[in-house]
Parts: sequence; structure tokens; C-alpha cells
Amino acid sequence: MTDVTRKDFDEVMVPCYSPMAVIPVRGQGARVWDQQDNEYIDFAGGIAVSCLGHCHPIMVSALSEQANKLWHLSNVMTNEPALRLAKKLVELSFADKVFFANSGAEANEAALKLARRYAADEFGEQKSKIIAFNQGFHGRTFFTVTVGGQAAYSDGFGPKPGDIEHIPYNDIEAFKAAISDDTCAVMMEPLQGEGGIISPSAEFAQTVRELCDKHNALLIFDEVQTGNGRTGEFYAYQGLGVTPDILSTAKSLGGGFPIAAMLTTEALSKHLKVGTHGSTYGGNPLACAVAEAVVNHISQPEVLQGVKDREALFLAELERINTQYPMFAEFRGKGLLLGAVLNKDWEGRARDVLVAAGEEGLLVLVAGANVVRFTPSLVISTEEIKQGLERFEAAIAKLYNA
Ligand SMILES: *Cc1c(COP(=O)(O)O)cnc(C)c1O
Repeated sequence: MTDVTRKDFDEVMVPCYSPMAVIPVRGQGARVWDQQDNEYIDFAGGIAVSCLGHCHPIMVSALSEQANKLWHLSNVMTNEPALRLAKKLVELSFADKVFFANSGAEANEAALKLARRYAADEFGEQKSKIIAFNQGFHGRTFFTVTVGGQAAYSDGFGPKPGDIEHIPYNDIEAFKAAISDDTCAVMMEPLQGEGGIISPSAEFAQTVRELCDKHNALLIFDEVQTGNGRTGEFYAYQGLGVTPDILSTAKSLGGGFPIAAMLTTEALSKHLKVGTHGSTYGGNPLACAVAEAVVNHISQPEVLQGVKDREALFLAELERINTQYPMFAEFRGKGLLLGAVLNKDWEGRARDVLVAAGEEGLLVLVAGANVVRFTPSLVISTEEIKQGLERFEAAIAKLYNA
């Protein structure tokens, strides 16, 4: 039947991943099927990417329509889908200007380069310090991974981009001590995803904004994971009441088609003049056509409200499961970016939960060794949430009673 298997991965792929044993071959809504036609409910959503589930008709028609019109031009010319998408993102956010890229890391790379260029142009080369946060995640290019808060990810690749300081997230005193007039930018997730689903306190977020203003430092929000409705707001900053100067978005933006964007203000955008930055694929018509359809759908108030309703259902069911099989210390996160934090007895066993869930036909994620993460489709049905959580309960029960 099939001529490739998981074994081929070890033969021909660079071993920087360790994928699950099964190979999904098709998906529909919040379900996927593997090579053996086993069915899974998908609470992982391709790591917060598949915001409309798999093969949503809106995305399929946007992609196939564009596929019959025009695939690629490069930025030597602009294109209609890119312009329409940019206008929509401007309408939906604080931003006046958009730069398109192909991945979260690239959008963050653009954000960091813009911040450094702005500071150098306006204040001089000494204003180059970047403040970022422990266990933050910003991608895998060498600049972004070094700004990320896990040194293990950036060690061992030679000299690192410099002048980057990491401090604890949510620590107002540490932040006050770190920021100065030499600070160029602060890069933070408005809810840490990979780092363990950690929300900032309102006071922390406000202090960061105020001190950035005081020291002429730019505030960069990495909304690669939180953006596009994931938290129940179109962007998480809107729920936090703190507006950044630069915002990066990717993951859910294309609903599974690779695309990313950096959003910023008119004044800042002027510092990236012709020739200062670019990308061959950035703003590709296929990607932008799909993202336009995704954004138009997700940004509707009833869809965003639907995310909040689904969050409530998830939390209520998880609490119920936890009274039956007390394995979790707390549930945290926002919208459909949720984390189940293992209690002391189960510390470090998030991966065991992921594997057990897989055996019951449920795909989940982890966020570190201690947190089981859920980032399903934002339009997953109530039925599928309930059925998925039944499978989760079965997996938990097995582990609990083992
Ligand atoms: C996933 C992620 C990135 C990296 O995105 P890529 O598309 O993998 O480059 C950056 N920042 C955050 C917050 C992310 O969750």
C-alpha cells in the first residue's frame, strides 16, 4: 500500500526531530487519519497552526482559486492577495505597516533588525541592548534563538549575536534593574507558549510598557503563537491592554500554509527603507490568499467569542477529570492555548501523557517536561472537544491506575 514508513525518517532525515511513530495521511476538521487509517482527534493543531482545522473549505477554495491564477512573483512586484491581507491586518491591529515573511523566526528576525536599525539611526550604536525573558521562545534562526530564553538551544554554534540579556518573566524588579537608556528593545511573548503556558501579570505588562517608553526602548510582542484569535482576542495584546511597537505573527496566520508577518507603526517602518531587508517568498500570493481567507474568518466577533466558549468547556471538563484522577496542579493559559500542569507526584511526565493520549487516539502537545498543552482548531466542535477529552480521560486513567 504505502511505500514510505516511519523507519525511512531515520534513514533519510536529519535527526533534529523525533517524530511520533504514526504518519498521518489526511485530515478533516479536528480529525486526522494515519497510514493504517486509525483516527485521531487533534488537540495539537500542528502546534497552534491549524486554527480552522484540517482542509477547511474556506482555505481549500482560497488556495485552489489562487493556484489557478498566480503562484509567485517575488518582491520585485507586489500582488493583490498580499495587499488585501496587509490592509486587513492593519485594520485589525495597532499597526500601520506590514512586512511579510515565511515563518515565526523570520518575522522575529525582521522585528529585531528593525529595532536595532531604529535605535542606531535615532540614538546611536550604543543603544543596542535587547532584553528578553527566561524560557521565552522566538524561533531558531541564530539571532532569534539567542534572544530566546533557553541557552541550550543557542549553545554550540559559535559566537552568538551579542548584547542580549535574559531576565525572569513576570519579575518587575528584575526588569527595572535591567532596562536603561542603552536598551534598544524588549522582546516578549504576551503569554509564553513553549516555555510552559505562562501569562504575564497585568502589572508586569504595564510596567514593561511604561519603562520602554521612559527609556525609548521598543516593545516587541512575539505573537507567533498567541496571534490570530488563539487567546480569544484577535491579538493577545488587545486582551492585555498593552500595545507593542512591533508585533510578529505566524503560526495560525496561514492556518497551515507557511506565512508570517511583522507589524509596526508608520514611524518605525521608515527605518527599513529599500534594500535594508527582504525575503524571496515573503508575501507570496498563495500564502497571502490563504491567510486572507483565514483572517477574514477568524476575526469575526462570533468566532472569537467561540474561542472563549470553547476555553470554558475545556476548563470545566479538565477540572472534572482532575477530581477523578488528580494528576494536575493547575490549568492555565487563555482561549485555546491551554496548559495542564502536572502536580508533584507526576512531575516531569508530560511526555508520558502525550504518548498515552496518542494510544487513545488523541493528539496533544507538551510545553516543557511538566505541562501538557492543548492548541486545537479554534472552530473545533463541542462534540469533538467532548470526545477528545473522553480519550484524554481514558489516557489519564490508564496512567493513574498503572
Ligand atoms: C513557534 C514560535 C516561533 C517560531 O516560529 P517558526 O515558524 O517555527 O519559525 C517564534 N515565537 C513563538 C512565540 C513561537 O511559538
